[in-house]
Amino acid sequence: MPTVPAPENLAQTLAALQAAGLERLDAQLLLLHVLGQPPHQRGWLLTHDTDLLSPERATVLKLLAQRRLSGEPLAYITGQKEFFGLMLQVDARVLVPRPDTETLVNWAREALAELPEKTHNSQPTRVLDLGTGSGAIALALKASQTALQVHAIDVSADALAVARANAQLLKLDVTCSQGAWLAGLSNNALKFDCIVSNPPYIASLDPHLAALTHEPLQALASGADGLDDLRLIIVQAPSHLKPGGWLLLEHGYDQAAAVRNLLSAAGFMQVQSRCDLAGIERCSGGQLNPTHTP
Ligand code: GLN
Repeated sequence: MPTVPAPENLAQTLAALQAAGLERLDAQLLLLHVLGQPPHQRGWLLTHDTDLLSPERATVLKLLAQRRLSGEPLAYITGQKEFFGLMLQVDARVLVPRPDTETLVNWAREALAELPEKTHNSQPTRVLDLGTGSGAIALALKASQTALQVHAIDVSADALAVARANAQLLKLDVTCSQGAWLAGLSNNALKFDCIVSNPPYIASLDPHLAALTHEPLQALASGADGLDDLRLIIVQAPSHLKPGGWLLLEHGYDQAAAVRNLLSAAGFMQVQSRCDLAGIERCSGGQLNPTHTP
């Protein structure tokens, strides 16, 4: 007589996923996903460890686990990723937002907080996110300071569709427009207090790219030394910054000195770098001369 496998409880399911090679956190998040539970409910799994998993859900879970084991980012499988406390919808049209990029958001918030006091009739404080992808940076800044006027540009119409959908879901008013870096501005005369960007910065022959095959190459690779897009942004940004405005850029683990040199060569002042969560210089930026006249 064929033996029918006994239905597994949640604890057994998690153990089986880990035995198949999944990391514990990924196994927990996939299980929560098939159970329709939000990702912050990992504690719920512990208190329901003897609940049985239905055969239908077990089948779905197995397929999702196979996708994860083949290297697909978890965020594409569950369709969401938390960034700066916001739940963003993501898929293969955009880069998965990385926790390291929160360094850039925090820096932008500090730079904006240090702007000189506004007079009541002055322009609104304006921020631009170049290469917005899922909208992560633009939406995080808007969510943390709703009075900001936030613009977001991406060259990819697909990415902009994701960013717009996230803005709508989160009810955050961000102006999205399409184009290559600053050529994407809908109004070329706009000047910003801060321009932020996490552009593609991986060298086109860097072996790390091999591990990132599920994400859009257009959002990752940037020429022989990975600096092609950073160079363009640094050259284009000054004419779109207000005097004293900041340009803040994310870059690769070994690019800080090169980016600082590019910023200084373009006339930026206060050129400096900030470290990511791993202590690696991950962002560099500079301030346009406060007395700059375009
Ligand atoms: N930080 C990402 C990675 O190396 C790359 C992001 C980017 O190119 N902007 O995984």
